[in-house]
Amino acid sequence: MEQLTQCPICESSGFSEYLSCIDYTVSRETFKIVKCSSCSFLFTNPRPMQDEIGKYYQSEDYISHSGTKKGFINSIYHLVRNYTIKKKFRIIEKYVSTDVSLLDIGSGTGEFLSYCKNKGWKAVGIEPSETGREAAIKNYNLTIFPEQHLKELQPASFNVITMWHVLEHVHELKNRLKQIKVLLKPDGYAFIAVPNHTSFDAERYNAFWAAYDLPRHLYHFDKESITKLFEQEQLSLVKTLPMKMDAFYVSMLSEKYKHGKTNYLSAVLTGLKSNMKAGGKAEKYSSVIYIFRKMENGEWIINN
Ligand SMILES: [Zn+2]
Repeated sequence: MEQLTQCPICESSGFSEYLSCIDYTVSRETFKIVKCSSCSFLFTNPRPMQDEIGKYYQSEDYISHSGTKKGFINSIYHLVRNYTIKKKFRIIEKYVSTDVSLLDIGSGTGEFLSYCKNKGWKAVGIEPSETGREAAIKNYNLTIFPEQHLKELQPASFNVITMWHVLEHVHELKNRLKQIKVLLKPDGYAFIAVPNHTSFDAERYNAFWAAYDLPRHLYHFDKESITKLFEQEQLSLVKTLPMKMDAFYVSMLSEKYKHGKTNYLSAVLTGLKSNMKAGGKAEKYSSVIYIFRKMENGEWIINN
């Protein structure tokens, strides 16, 4: 295990215990989230080392890697995924539509990347899981590299970088931010989706909230913390969008963790309530897409 002595965002060394959660998906071990006393960022601490976290992904239930279609929740996951792929594509299209060169970090089994490639975009993926990589290459004939290949990619060669529910898994957080900045073309965009612990469903399920997903989720972002992190690399927040389907999926899993089985009605009601309570504020939904733009030197300082 790795014990962090500094906040991954502001580097302050003061933090207090925030929440203990059980890893219901794989290990049944208990992990802790701490809160930075200086910037209020929540992060998992202690956390498995980078070279030992692999075993916490070893589960049939961890569908983003295995592509399994077993069970009702997984079927829903796949239906929702097809819907959200199109939605993500349309969101990006609004910002960058010509000569799109896309890097999807954490491309999983490649469905999103394949969709974009079929739309005529140049598309490259990075995926740490060998199983995911092999499936993506075999099923869709995609260009997917392992994680360490990030530093081999040509600087300023992408106008879009996407990380869909990935940033919360990355050990070397600041290093990854620097890589994003280097790889983006001037005025390029980063689309970052992460779960939101300030949502209604997070508050309702508390330690059972499935999107804490300890110890795989190393960070628990909100609008303030993620904006601060990206601004450190002159990546400026331009838009915040809700991911409304996530409230339902996360509530179903959370019901299962809390009661041992899923009360679908209760999960659907919680999902609806969560979306309603967000009241149109994107940063209050169960999951949020943050859109950042790479600024020319100093431009964001003037804008602020
Ligand atoms: Zn901090």
